Amino acid sequence: MRPAELIAIKRDGGRLAPEEIRAFLEGVVTGDVPDYQAAALLMAIFHHGLSPEELDVWTEVMLHSGVVLDLSDIPGRKVDKHSTGGVGDKISLPLAPLVAAAGVVVPMISGRGLGHTGGTLDKLASIEGFRTDWDMGTFRRLLRAHGCGLIGQTAEIAPADRKLYALRDATATVESIPLIASSILSKKLAEGIEGLVLDVKFGSGAFLQEFERARKLATTMVEIGERAGVRTVALLTDMNQPLGAMVGNALEVRESVDVLRGGGPADVRELTLLLGVEMVALARQEPASAALREELESLLDGGGAWERWCAIVEAQGGHPSVFDREDGLPVAPQTEVFSAPAEGWLSAVQTRDIGRAAMHLGAGRARMEDVIDPAVGLEVHARIGDRVERGAPLVTLHTRDGRGVEAARALLEGAFVLVDAPVEPPPLVAERIEG
Ligand code: URA
Repeated sequence: MRPAELIAIKRDGGRLAPEEIRAFLEGVVTGDVPDYQAAALLMAIFHHGLSPEELDVWTEVMLHSGVVLDLSDIPGRKVDKHSTGGVGDKISLPLAPLVAAAGVVVPMISGRGLGHTGGTLDKLASIEGFRTDWDMGTFRRLLRAHGCGLIGQTAEIAPADRKLYALRDATATVESIPLIASSILSKKLAEGIEGLVLDVKFGSGAFLQEFERARKLATTMVEIGERAGVRTVALLTDMNQPLGAMVGNALEVRESVDVLRGGGPADVRELTLLLGVEMVALARQEPASAALREELESLLDGGGAWERWCAIVEAQGGHPSVFDREDGLPVAPQTEVFSAPAEGWLSAVQTRDIGRAAMHLGAGRARMEDVIDPAVGLEVHARIGDRVERGAPLVTLHTRDGRGVEAARALLEGAFVLVDAPVEPPPLVAERIEG
């Protein structure tokens, strides 16, 4: 294989044969293909895409570049959820124990947050003692005992993706739909799951803001999953405003705990139920139905999901009593209010700027090596469609020593659009895509 020849084929819009993709990617992992040639191929793919056949081989080679879990000895069907990420997206926390309480096995391998979006691992890290760095043997024991384990991405899973992602990041080729789809699916398929529910976000706080691009990503991922033999469903969900009120790690854990106890903000509860129904339906191989939804509602309202969450927290090193104590989770030493600069109906939110404002306070990282402050963040008091009075509290900033407050306030100044006429709140789910 001469890498330059394969790059030329893609550069000119041609198609690569399976063995060519295999040889090239294996060369990237071993280092036989130098970074400059890998980067050149990525740029050619960015411009010309990959055919479905190329995409399947690309994903499969990335998937098999590392460990692929075999969970077949663990009873029950294994289903996971992946979200493309958003501001205040804490859904994994209530969802995983809820679905496990309904008898589904949820092997959830999550990442850390970067940029304006948060990560599940960072939220879990705000629970004292909660560990996510378990080895595979312990992960299996967690799944067997509690139907759920929440761990971090390990170096053993899809190492080719780590290498390629770093190159994409350095060469402005991250935003390619086939490359994003294969990156996400290679890591998810490595979990040894039988079903996958994708929460693909669009809107001002989403990774892909444009609806049609998010839709294309969702369709591409559903097709890859289905062709790989994993039942895959995607919901296209609105990220034109934060999910729930809380943005920040311990704050989001509090909100998730509220949902697990039968309360919480309506949108967080609703999305948890919608995704939960899809996961349980895939596991039971039956259609998503009103009866399934009622079953999950009673697990949230009747304590079943909460009990499962407490068992998982305890098994992973934490203690559920932290959720009952005022200072059981990290609390920011100061709060201050950002007030509405005008009156009107809230018609739009620059959600990415809300995420960035939280990052300035220390709730997120601009670079992977940045350290997160679990206590800080934002509480957003208005949702699209709400009437807001001038001077009313719009956001509460939970801060440490005033760090980043000025920068956060500057972002909040431009983040809320108020208009003179009433506004219809947007639907949470725009579309459902299945194979
Ligand atoms: N998330 C991933 O895991 N991979 C991408 O390429 C983009 C987002």
